[in-house]
Amino acid sequence: MKMHNFNAGPSILPREVIEDTAKAVLDFEGKGLSILEISHRAKYFQPVVDEAEALFKELLNIPDGYKVLFLGGGASLEFCMVPYNFLNKKAAYLNTGVWAKKAQKEAKAFGEVVEVASSADKVYNYLPKGYTIPADADYFHITTNNTIYGTELHEDPTSPVPMIADMSSDIFSRPIDVSKYICIYGGAQKNLAPAGVTFVIVKEDALGKVERAIPTMLDYRTHVEGGSMFNTPPVLPIYTALLNLRWIKKQGGVKEMQRRAEERANLLYNKLDNSKIFRPTVADKADRSYMNICFVLKDEYLDRKEELEKEFMAFATERGMVGIKGHRSVGGFRASCYNALPLESVQALVDCITEFEKKF
Ligand SMILES: *Cc1c(COP(=O)(O)O)cnc(C)c1O
Repeated sequence: MKMHNFNAGPSILPREVIEDTAKAVLDFEGKGLSILEISHRAKYFQPVVDEAEALFKELLNIPDGYKVLFLGGGASLEFCMVPYNFLNKKAAYLNTGVWAKKAQKEAKAFGEVVEVASSADKVYNYLPKGYTIPADADYFHITTNNTIYGTELHEDPTSPVPMIADMSSDIFSRPIDVSKYICIYGGAQKNLAPAGVTFVIVKEDALGKVERAIPTMLDYRTHVEGGSMFNTPPVLPIYTALLNLRWIKKQGGVKEMQRRAEERANLLYNKLDNSKIFRPTVADKADRSYMNICFVLKDEYLDRKEELEKEFMAFATERGMVGIKGHRSVGGFRASCYNALPLESVQALVDCITEFEKKF
């Protein structure tokens, strides 16, 4: 049976990227050695990091003065590295979900944190608007795509202070204006690579401005100077990231990724907006994520919620749908539609919903 991979993360990667990774595990570029058994300082691994950084810069149109880092620790470690490196006195945070809130919590250990707005009052099913960002903040932190709740900022906001963004789950799904940010980071396992590598795009002249001492490994300058090689980087996930970046370029770049993301999202939201039994959790179309599409049973079915959710889950699983269970904090269903997901998989889910509706 054909499997349709809607996993939220780790998640789908292009088949050819997985196949080429498998080849490199057996024999890295004809060297007669596995990529797993070569030194990260070997002369043939350095070009992998160099090309991955060059493709980041090319695909995201990153201006001069920025460095791309490949680190360990996940986005969760960046929640702490960001304030360590950039928060002198005050930082502004937009609370749009659990990840945003976790980032904010870490910052509190380093200075004053202003929560400019929050959508926690409605289980984060919308994006706050009309808030004021304090002009004396060191930075304004946002989470561009809220993986758990299915909201997404489709454009870079305007801010009186430099921005920092967690782009774990929508990096490379649209063009971004990197010049508005001093730092963009994310765990790679949603839309870029297997778990194990964290990407950080950092503006070099924004570093070194805080007064505190920073432990070596948590200081971005260490990794800028070391070219992501201060210590052993996650070699294999970096290689897979490179293969995926080459794939994105070959497909037509981030504009094409954005076109495909919109096409997939329109297909599924259109079905959900007209469904007899389901509704999208995010009502405002402007706030809807193209990456993580969350839906629940309509109110009239809530008395049979548990039974019907189980029934749909089994029905969809029988038809090859994988990973559509909603996050435990939201319930219902979530279809993650990352770059590598073919439109046919979304069509298969739409057909599956249509078929299930016939029972009603
Ligand atoms: C998954 C996710 C994280 C956590 O990433 P880790 O790499 O597991 O630390 C943080 N932020 C967002 C938006 C995510 O989707």
